[in-house]
Amino acid sequence: MLRTLIRTLFPAFMERVEAESKTWFMQCRKCGSEISVWDYGGMRYRALGTVYRLGRCRECQKVSMLRVYQRSQPGSD
Ligand SMILES: [Zn+2]
Repeated sequence: MLRTLIRTLFPAFMERVEAESKTWFMQCRKCGSEISVWDYGGMRYRALGTVYRLGRCRECQKVSMLRVYQRSQPGSD
């Protein structure tokens, strides 16, 4: 898996990617549930703005456009 590989090769870099990925959330437009990009199994780093991605919601299991947005800056809470 990509995350495991990066963590092995660049542990300090992966810490930053993990911290930032945890500030990004994916919201289901069907049921409104949210999950962090990191918990979803993804990574998001040095990104800006809200985007929409096709994905399956972990809550309602429906495939829809998930809103991906940043909830806070890394280290701001
Ligand atoms: Zn849902």
